[in-house]
Amino acid sequence: MMKYDYHTHTCFSEDSEASVDAMINAAIERGVAELAITDHYDPDYPDPEFEFIPDFPEYYKMLMEKQEEYAGRIKIVKGIEIGIQDGETIYKCREAAHAFPYDVIVGSFHCFCGYDLYTADYSKMDEKQVLPDFYTFMHTCLSQYKCYDVVGHFNVIDRYVPFELDYSNCMDICEAVMKIIVEDGKGIEINTSSFRYGMGDRTHAASEFLTMYREMGGEIVTIGSDAHKPQDMAADWERAAEILRTHGFRYLATFENRKPTMIKL
Ligand SMILES: [Zn+2]
Ligand SMILES: [Zn+2]
Repeated sequence: MMKYDYHTHTCFSEDSEASVDAMINAAIERGVAELAITDHYDPDYPDPEFEFIPDFPEYYKMLMEKQEEYAGRIKIVKGIEIGIQDGETIYKCREAAHAFPYDVIVGSFHCFCGYDLYTADYSKMDEKQVLPDFYTFMHTCLSQYKCYDVVGHFNVIDRYVPFELDYSNCMDICEAVMKIIVEDGKGIEINTSSFRYGMGDRTHAASEFLTMYREMGGEIVTIGSDAHKPQDMAADWERAAEILRTHGFRYLATFENRKPTMIKL
């Protein structure tokens, strides 16, 4: 089937040097019918070395121009990935979400409790508390923040914690988070970067969370490579599609003007 890559980055993101055209051309070459460009906006990111704040007017202008320039060859979906944090940051996220008429917003958690997942010093944390703290943070945020369409890489924290994953004391809070997502009519994704990070079968979202979402009645799923360079464009797309099928999903969501359209998976 044609591919629909709903999570990708370009040099409008602090952590990518890829030109927009290089990313789009890689997508065309790999049979991508719809490409959502979802560059980072991560207000109040704790690591001072990174400022994930794009030039919004320039960014949106680029999205519109590329949509027109490539029309007929590939559909460019105007997206953004918003890094959600609680407190005052939520207001910034909300403002950015409404500042331009995006087609799709990926709502992601790259931080929790004032730490970013990447540089957090897990050795100073209570092993048993890290996962509950992360999902409780998600719960606090998603109880208040609704300006997104799909939650990015649900259990991405699995990639960063330096000790053996033990979800036994936090599945109830994960369920509470998922319940909010489903009841708000939002989606989740399979983010294929987990394969590139050597996470094996531990996909983002992981199998048990895909099942949890579907059993709660969730139907909105997307696939995103999270490519930050052309080589990773649409990576492992078919593999992700197969995982969705084996979890009982029959449709993939595409977005325009923040409204999902289902296509047969
Ligand atoms: Zn992300
Ligand atoms: Zn991303």
